[in-house]
Amino acid sequence: MRKVLVTGGAGFIGSHLCERLLNDGNEVICLDNFFTGSKENILHLLQKPYFELIRHDITMPFFIEVDEIYNLACPASPIHYQYNPIKTIKTSVMGAINMLGLAKRIKARILQASTSEVYGDPAVHPQTENYWGNVNPIGVRSCYDEGKRCAETLFFDYHRQNKVDIKVVRIFNTYGPRMHPNDGRVVSNFIVQALQNKDITIYGSGKQTRSFQYVDDLIEGMIRMMKTGSGITGPVNIGNPIEFTMIELAELVIKLTGSKSKLSFHALPDDDPVQRKPDIRYAQEVLNNWVPDVDLEQGLIKTIDYLKHKIKI
Ligand code: NAD
Ligand code: UDP
Repeated sequence: MRKVLVTGGAGFIGSHLCERLLNDGNEVICLDNFFTGSKENILHLLQKPYFELIRHDITMPFFIEVDEIYNLACPASPIHYQYNPIKTIKTSVMGAINMLGLAKRIKARILQASTSEVYGDPAVHPQTENYWGNVNPIGVRSCYDEGKRCAETLFFDYHRQNKVDIKVVRIFNTYGPRMHPNDGRVVSNFIVQALQNKDITIYGSGKQTRSFQYVDDLIEGMIRMMKTGSGITGPVNIGNPIEFTMIELAELVIKLTGSKSKLSFHALPDDDPVQRKPDIRYAQEVLNNWVPDVDLEQGLIKTIDYLKHKIKI
């Protein structure tokens, strides 16, 4: 039985990862400070004998003996990561240093949950892993984007200098059950608004694009990445390459919820990327022909069902 540490394990993605790792027969230690995560996300795991929950902030050192570390701790929605930007960058950078130091000491393999935000507002489309990005270093999104970029730098320096066994995945917009209803990200916002027959808040023209990946496809990609040979470090894009405008997403959500909501247009937040779509050829090559399996409509139906119960409609 492998012992696996998941930082940020009580969050949206982390809770799905903990569940999958337990189902695969691992012992799972979930570490979280509950900034954006919640005990509710992992309530169903707490009674399992091979699951352990530890309240801890990864900006502080942490010692444990494990075989693998998945480093997910970091707020991910713009509202949450901009709430305390200094804390966000500390979480990414000091958290990476603490977890890499731990991995070095105990010789554990470590996977970093990086992000498509490292490409910023990309001038190359779709984004390939060898594109270095177009990121504003001093804007409101920088605490997250530059924090994650610096974390990638640390991962590769610990790998080169200390031979730490690293894996870096760049996650593109992911959605699914256990997204926080007030998390501010577009999928949860639109679904909650549609369920309440409130206006759907489109920022900017609504012609900007994103490519939405259902959480189960991401988890499969992350698990496969952790199992790759030590020659494979990444970074590897993990995302669904089917691109939608925000207006298309809003129309689909309205259709699937049978809502009476109308679209309302609002100012575009600063540095909001115009387009985003992963090139996943490298992922397919190194992750055993991994491809996303769940299309947007199927995934939205499951997410709508979850949020309907969560907000009690
Ligand atoms: P989330 O906010 O639901 O989860 C983040 C978790 O980290 C929460 O449980 C939170 O309480 C915890 N956390 C935050 N700061 C911490 C700290 N200092 N110490 C300990 N725990 C801390 O977000 P998510 O969508 O599940 O994202 C998980 C990871 O995946 C993040 O690293 C994020 O950057 C990355 N990611 C997510 C997406 C996406 O679309 N959801 C896209 C790209 C990358
Ligand atoms: N967005 C929107 N309405 C909302 C929330 C977000 O139009 O209520 C837009 C946002 O401006 C961005 C896209 O949806 O262009 C995706 O936003 P999200 O915060 O989900 O993710 P990110 O910008 O980090 O990719």
